[in-house]
Amino acid sequence: MSVTSESESSRDVFVQSSLLAVRGLTKRFGTFAACDGIDLDIRTGEIHALLGENGAGKSTLVKMLFGVLAPTEGEILWRGEPVSIASPADARKLGIGMVFQHFSMFEALTVAENIALSMPPNISLQKVAAEAATVSKAYGLPLDPAAHVADLSVGERQRIEIVRALLQNPQLIILDEPTSVLTPQEADRLFETLERLRAEGRSVLYISHRLEEVQRICQRATVLRHGKVTGACDPRLETPASLARMMVGADVKSVRHIASSGGGAVQLAADHLSVAARTPFSVSLKDICLEVRAGEILAIAGVAGNGQSELFDALSGEFPVEANTAISIRGKPVGSLGITARRLLGGSFVPEERQGHATVPALTLADNLVLARNQSDARVFLGGGLLQIIRHMIVRVASTRISKAMDVRKSGEDPAAASLSGGNLQKFIIGRELDRQPSVLIVNQPTWGVDAGAASRIRQALVDLAKAGSAVLVISQDLDEIYEVASSIAVISDGKLSRSYPAEQITREQIGLLMGGTQSNHSAPETSHAH
Ligand code: ADP
Ligand code: MG
Repeated sequence: MSVTSESESSRDVFVQSSLLAVRGLTKRFGTFAACDGIDLDIRTGEIHALLGENGAGKSTLVKMLFGVLAPTEGEILWRGEPVSIASPADARKLGIGMVFQHFSMFEALTVAENIALSMPPNISLQKVAAEAATVSKAYGLPLDPAAHVADLSVGERQRIEIVRALLQNPQLIILDEPTSVLTPQEADRLFETLERLRAEGRSVLYISHRLEEVQRICQRATVLRHGKVTGACDPRLETPASLARMMVGADVKSVRHIASSGGGAVQLAADHLSVAARTPFSVSLKDICLEVRAGEILAIAGVAGNGQSELFDALSGEFPVEANTAISIRGKPVGSLGITARRLLGGSFVPEERQGHATVPALTLADNLVLARNQSDARVFLGGGLLQIIRHMIVRVASTRISKAMDVRKSGEDPAAASLSGGNLQKFIIGRELDRQPSVLIVNQPTWGVDAGAASRIRQALVDLAKAGSAVLVISQDLDEIYEVASSIAVISDGKLSRSYPAEQITREQIGLLMGGTQSNHSAPETSHAH
């Protein structure tokens, strides 16, 4: 399993040899090529990055390597020999393990039971638990075999997926965007594990669109754009800008900032908003006060799970609150009103979850547009004695306009929401709300798991909306994003919101302290301009 007694010279030879090679690999969905003639070489003992913006074809490529999708054309070589990988079982037999972007576990079962499901059926649960414990210890991936998956955090679930893959003793481990769901601390632990695997002579194919982490942990990188390889490099010798250019084809535009205005009228307000926790897993909101003015972006920073989703639910009307006056939109109390009533007043809301909440994945983009608008924007979309066909055309025109405005990359004119990559779907969702020209926009984690190009497009759209006179509230865990868009910043911690600070008057360190709950004595923190 480990390679400890290699001499330096023989290890060099070892590192050079090709483990997996891909030649001209192509996957078409209909006429659309998600992967288009891809060449890739993964050597023994390297952490190889597969970089590319959302929709580049990364997941499609690795699904072919793991036998989940059949290639349309091309060849896969394993240790120099052509192989056909028709199923995940074939891939595992060769020595390929995979940790998927979306986990595949049964919530009601325990950790050990979930792991046992991927093992041969004749192995006892005790044996599975014991082996899992050994692997977990060896690789610094702590887990509790008896815990129920439903009770675990995303980071813990990912550890189980990794342990499950390692139990097969793979030579190549593929991880599809593993850190998009992890805290920085969890990500650091993952990197240590990957480094250990590499030191043993295994190879890792690491999919990411985060340039810093690729530069930090990977020795080689292959960059995809629109299904084609646009570069192969040693990421450590590149700059973030040169990598981003390979990914998106042009320099990523930096967002044009807005200054804190303080000018316009208050469009959105929360006045001593308190909401009791609805479930044992949710956070109660405690006496929250905020104001967002026309022309302003208030960003709310905080570590996930401190009341962000509860605040979004209350402000959007997803869960109306008892005190009607605790929330107002354009001066009208709306606390006990539902979403449609708030939308009719000029509110637009973008929840965190793209698939299932912001959209119905199985429906097309145009149908999702109708669904989002059929009550609040009825006159435009379903109204007044127009023929069905004309309405249908209006919807198509709007859907096309939105896709154009936000540069949504999709296969075909009106594909199902589920077929879009995360970043492209998010651009469509944000565009759908911007297209209504809302007076108030509330968006939760606008660029969660979205690549640099799409994120920059989305942030610029938010800034432009505020410049045009709307009030924008952004809830985000990403401090870079917050500094890019915010005119004011507040911090949520344990369901309490700090006062808001002009963005240029609060540093990252101060935000960090507020996040940790060093809370809000309602005096300004020491200010500096050190961010
Ligand atoms: P990435 O992982 O790099 O974000 P994907 O490999 O998921 O990208 O997707 C690449 C492209 O292929 C996207 O435009 C996506 O919409 C399209 N695509 C992926 N799966 C399917 C599918 N089953 N049917 C049609 N199009 C698909
Ligand atoms: Mg993907």
